[in-house]
Amino acid sequence: MKYDFLIVGAGLFGAVLAHELHAAGRRVFVVERRGAVGGNIRSEVRDGIPVHLYGAHIFHTSLRGVWDYVNRFVDFHPFINSPVANYKGELYNLPFNMNTFYQMWGVRTPAEAREKIASQRSAASGEPQNLEEQAISLVGCDIYEKLIKGYTEKQWGRDCRELPAFIIRRLPLRFTYDNNYFNDRWQGIPDGGYNGLIKNLFAGIEVSLGTDFLRNREEFARNAERVVYTGAIDEYFDYALGELEYRGLRFEHERIGTANLQGVAVMNFSARETPYTRRIEHKHFEPQNAALAEKPVTVVTKEYPADWCRGDDAYYPVNDEKNQALYEKYAARAASERVIFGGRLGEYKYYDMDKTVERALALAKTLTE
Ligand code: FAD
Ligand code: UDP
Repeated sequence: MKYDFLIVGAGLFGAVLAHELHAAGRRVFVVERRGAVGGNIRSEVRDGIPVHLYGAHIFHTSLRGVWDYVNRFVDFHPFINSPVANYKGELYNLPFNMNTFYQMWGVRTPAEAREKIASQRSAASGEPQNLEEQAISLVGCDIYEKLIKGYTEKQWGRDCRELPAFIIRRLPLRFTYDNNYFNDRWQGIPDGGYNGLIKNLFAGIEVSLGTDFLRNREEFARNAERVVYTGAIDEYFDYALGELEYRGLRFEHERIGTANLQGVAVMNFSARETPYTRRIEHKHFEPQNAALAEKPVTVVTKEYPADWCRGDDAYYPVNDEKNQALYEKYAARAASERVIFGGRLGEYKYYDMDKTVERALALAKTLTE
């Protein structure tokens, strides 16, 4: 055999795993169907501005080991994500906190805010069974109607009553005047974007770009003892048990001749009528860079949710009960194969970057013990 491991996919999971296996003396080969490494964290510098090509990526974690690990490869600058929600021109701070409650209701104290929410909660009682019930029980009807319902239904392409409650619990709810979108201990963005991280992880490792494993799987597999697959698990099995559902996305990048278009890195558009969910202005991910701020050019990206069809990039797994049950069937089939599945698509899990790194490090450990 020419290689100990063939890794399919050069996203963050593949990069960390490849690095660790290579560092442990294993012979590693990586194939990637896109024309570049990095998967969805890839960035590209345009007009001096690191552009997050696949949507806003903010590294946040409470896992000390993961934070120390990524900082070995690249310097991070401090960045606190504080998005602004735009509902038909009305602006509200996110995540849901005292600023939002003041803007929505004019309440000034936590006690007043709690009272207001409690008065709007009566519509839902008992353990929330879906996203709508969960949202109303957390923040009441007004915030649900203006800041959650439209955004969520366009993001996921279905009614909030048909979505799992956990999705909305990703967002912090606070009774303080604090617009930090995350509760994690560490938060930041790599200087110059994510490509430095990926490049350093892949140092010394052979990567074949524009190469789809599935087009030539027998030959690739013949050359390696083990295969680790970070693409979609149902696609690997040629959808033999049926299709898992995903959400697709379309990104529209635009260069605009102004220094500062929206004054914030991430603006969420929560009305159903606006076809996109987020507009990001990339230069604001680099708040310490005064020269960039003054430059009379900016790059913005609108993020349009889309139905996913075979052949499209899959961005979000839809982790409801039906899909979860189908995923378990694929996972059982995978257990009898020589291949290991990992990453957001391989494990069909809504992993953030820190979890992705944690899972890749754990897998590397078991494979090198
Ligand atoms: P991917 O990046 O999807 O990499 C998989 C790679 O495998 C891809 O490059 C793909 O082309 C390749 N591949 C698939 N099939 C094949 C095949 N058959 N042959 C060859 N190659 C193949 N996380 C955060 O922590 N903070 C954020 O702010 C954040 N924002 C996000 C915003 C958006 C819009 C999205 C979609 C995700 C966001 N995430 C964020 C999550 C983050 O992107 C993921 O945790 C991370 O990218 C997962 O890495 P991965 O390697 O598992 O997957
Ligand atoms: N959400 C919302 N309004 C917002 C932002 C988020 O209703 O302005 C909901 C929506 O259902 C979304 C979920 O909260 O899918 C999680 O949001 P997050 O920002 O974590 O999503 P991601 O960055 O993973 O797309």
